[in-house]
Amino acid sequence: MYEKPNFSIKIMTDSDVPAIAARWEAQYKDKNSGEWKYGRKPLSSSTLDAVEIEIGNSSWTTITCDACGSYVRKAVQFSDYDTVQSICANCASIIGALGKAINK
Ligand SMILES: [Zn+2]
Repeated sequence: MYEKPNFSIKIMTDSDVPAIAARWEAQYKDKNSGEWKYGRKPLSSSTLDAVEIEIGNSSWTTITCDACGSYVRKAVQFSDYDTVQSICANCASIIGALGKAINK
């Protein structure tokens, strides 16, 4: 059944770091043995920038725009019951302009 999407703004901030660390642990720490997999260790950083340096890339600290593929820290998101789509500010501006155009 189609559900009306929920639109919101997501801004990644340093307050997201504990959740990132929890997801990191869920992915890389074996729940049964308590051992870390693939040589990974618990994240020790407290800011997004520091986490990015610690991990070595921005995949855990950014949102990927589903339209252009850019990695951003601010995005418009819309979701239905099981998916979330993210759109960067640049793409959202283009979509907004197109929306105005088709409403003329
Ligand atoms: Zn984009």
